Amino acid sequence: MDKLKVAFIGLGLIGGSIAMTIRKKFPDAEIIALNRSAATLDSALKDGVINAGTHEIDDNFKECDYIFLSAPVDTNISFLEKLKPYLTEHTILTDAGSVKGKIHHAVKECLPEAKFIGGHPMAGSEKSGYANANDHLIENAYYILTPSSSVKEPDIYKYMDFVEKLDAIPLVLSAEEHDYVTAAVSHMPHIVAYSLVQTVMETDSPEEYMKMIAAGGFKDITRIASSDATMWEQICLENPDNIRILIAEFMQRMEQFDDFIRNADGDKLHKSFDEIKNYRNSIHDGRKGALQKIYDLHCDIKDEAGAIATIATILSTQGISIKNIGIVHNRAYEQGALHIEFYDEHAKAQASATLTRHGYTVFPN
Ligand code: NAP
Repeated sequence: MDKLKVAFIGLGLIGGSIAMTIRKKFPDAEIIALNRSAATLDSALKDGVINAGTHEIDDNFKECDYIFLSAPVDTNISFLEKLKPYLTEHTILTDAGSVKGKIHHAVKECLPEAKFIGGHPMAGSEKSGYANANDHLIENAYYILTPSSSVKEPDIYKYMDFVEKLDAIPLVLSAEEHDYVTAAVSHMPHIVAYSLVQTVMETDSPEEYMKMIAAGGFKDITRIASSDATMWEQICLENPDNIRILIAEFMQRMEQFDDFIRNADGDKLHKSFDEIKNYRNSIHDGRKGALQKIYDLHCDIKDEAGAIATIATILSTQGISIKNIGIVHNRAYEQGALHIEFYDEHAKAQASATLTRHGYTVFPN
């Protein structure tokens, strides 16, 4: 195989992470990037992630195997016309956007001949920018591919194979299927999380007792309400029809539970909760999905001075980085007074083994 050549438009969290993964898996690849800020390009050049950086579409984009559009969707669209002269018969044009309808429509209008296969790695973070990118973000994550109708099977297989070589899991869907499925498992849950937090915010007592005891379980289930407001505004406006269908479905479920409770119908409540619990427990847990996974555990500690510092020291001497650490004051639904969050599965497993070895009782979540 000739040397792989890949270009990126936008080298932030997602573009940067994909570029780093390609550099790790294909050390000889030629990787180029167009980005707004020079600082990002300088860092990526210094890290050896890219071979060249640019601020405009130029001859760097010649003869690419893959071009990743990994800036915000409207920015990606603004570059399509300029890419036209650089797309060859072996160039696969792809994107990383969270909604597919708009980019597919724009490519069809502007570059009907392009081999466009939309892409959406089901991985991310509440942080953005190249500084937060890493070479394992997409590892073991579903990577949805949405080929345009003109793309032939060998190109789809080629991209699937590439995704597998990057240690992600390719899943081919139509753009329409993608937008419906992600509306259900990502977009609508964000709106529900925002609404749950808003309910507490607007119904709390003047003493703010709700807010006080919301630590722990409530904060966990509403974690995604801390997501970037601009990104979620854009996603909602790009996928309005699907999101509205699913909000209507969700509201029907809320009305149904309201009916059961109003009628004191314990049998129906119990049957529903039981069915839902079984379905939820059947959801595969080993892979990264539409919502970012958290790697955390709870641990029992004695209420004495320096207890947290001791644990932090034990973990740091093993080279384990802690993302978050704190006492859980509301433990209504969980065990272990100390909650510790890590950056990845490996760190969590190492921490669990280390703390157990030091005699702590650990409750991995
Ligand atoms: P990000 O970290 O903010 O990165 C965006 C990158 O695009 C930055 O490097 C930025 O440059 C660059 N950029 C912005 N405007 C530009 C312009 N006019 N010209 C050139 N470069 C420009 O965003 P992200 O989280 O990687 O998201 C990128 C895409 O991935 C989005 O379409 C998003 O929907 C999708 N996505 C996000 C997630 C997630 O969890 N974040 C998950 C899956 C998919 P600077 O260095 O100057 O800021």
